[in-house]
Amino acid sequence: MPIFNLVKKLLKQERTPSPRIYSRPEHTISRSQISPNALKVLYRLKSAGFRACLVGGCVRDLLLGREPKDFDVATDAHPQQVRELFRNCRLIGRRFRLAHVHFRSEIIEVATFRSAATPDGEGDWEKQAETGRVLRDNVYGTIEEDAWRRDFSVNALYYDIADFSVVDYVGGMEDLRNGLLRLIGDPEQRFREDPVRMLRAVRFKTKLGFRLDEPCERQLPHLSSLLANVPPARLYDEVLKLFLSGNALQTFENLRHYGLFAPLFPATEAALAREHEGYPLVFLARALENTDLRIQQGKAVTPYFLYAALLWEPVRLAAERIQAEGEAPVVAMQEAVSEVLSAQIKHVAIPKRVTLPMREVWTLQPRFEHRIGRRPLRLLAHPRFRAAYDFLLLRSESGEADPDLARWWTRVQEVDESERRKMIAGPRRRRRRRSRHRTGNRDSASS
Ligand code: ATP
Ligand code: MG
Repeated sequence: MPIFNLVKKLLKQERTPSPRIYSRPEHTISRSQISPNALKVLYRLKSAGFRACLVGGCVRDLLLGREPKDFDVATDAHPQQVRELFRNCRLIGRRFRLAHVHFRSEIIEVATFRSAATPDGEGDWEKQAETGRVLRDNVYGTIEEDAWRRDFSVNALYYDIADFSVVDYVGGMEDLRNGLLRLIGDPEQRFREDPVRMLRAVRFKTKLGFRLDEPCERQLPHLSSLLANVPPARLYDEVLKLFLSGNALQTFENLRHYGLFAPLFPATEAALAREHEGYPLVFLARALENTDLRIQQGKAVTPYFLYAALLWEPVRLAAERIQAEGEAPVVAMQEAVSEVLSAQIKHVAIPKRVTLPMREVWTLQPRFEHRIGRRPLRLLAHPRFRAAYDFLLLRSESGEADPDLARWWTRVQEVDESERRKMIAGPRRRRRRRSRHRTGNRDSASS
């Protein structure tokens, strides 16, 4: 198909013929900031005669003076050749093979340079869905092709172990200096190829505090519905990355701003749109703030709690509706949970190991209403009590649950055994005592 070849040629012409190379004195990356394991991998590849570079988020973060989350290596060695060099190496991925070099405390991912699945032959178009989404992306290529297939210019910089230079094919260094998040190539095409890049745009914008390139920014609201074409299982991981980044609240606001929250959580978005009730938004904002705070303090954050918060409003509304139809609160909650989850997993697939504790946190909520007798004791002993109680606190702080109820549950955990017995005795027991002493003296009955 000649037209495709022409397009490809034109695209190629836009590219800089040679990279801009920033020699060691021209940038700030020093080997002391690089993980010793990553250095080991780089050096061994180099001494075996291969090209070996750090690439992606770690180069970007090092240049920004941030601590990288992990170190990714790109090389011209093929996965099998990488495996031959490292005993502690496993090949993963079916569609695209990657080498994982295992060390005691970290895994270094080593990927072979690859080119984008640009459609350059009749057959290749079959690899694209009608929306332009690339379905296969597994052709080895040169370092230059590897750079051009990446998403943002600041994510396409290479730190070359051969001479400690930074290699830049796409103008990433300048964008980095200007705090600009720019998609490589035509934004519409790149977002269509992989709509997850829209979520990545929001994630990096928020995390790095960068400005989104104007053409990208313009495309986002128009293309947000393309997220519906992304396999729900892939979105599960992306949502976690978005909300467990330490900037959950800001990420949430940005997602909504660009119309990207609705395709992920349609039921929640619909519930939030009911403006006459202020607390759903307050609840979610608090939950996300709380998540950020926990991350700041180095505390654990669990995916199930986050997802439970994100979907609480639709669950609560459905339970209210089912209860109004005549079901008991606990049954109504169980039915609501099933209803909301089965609709949600069509958009973002949530694995069973996560939905199980989510269900527990939600279905324990109506049980907090029972403060008398054995029921509160059973709830206190429930393995998911702590999370459910934290959830209740959030609900009460946002004005949705009764603050007295939350206070009661806080207190019942703090008091000693005998005080607790008094708390759960309630008026019924007193009534019983009164009836026992009905014929006796009044003072002892009321003590
Ligand atoms: P983080 O700090 O969150 O890990 P990162 O930039 O390293 O950020 P990764 O998801 O680890 O992000 O991806 C590593 C690199 O792979 C990116 O920097 C980018 O160059 C490339 N990449 C990842 N996802 C895509 C995508 N959807 N399209 C194009 N390139 C991508
Ligand atoms: Mg990374």
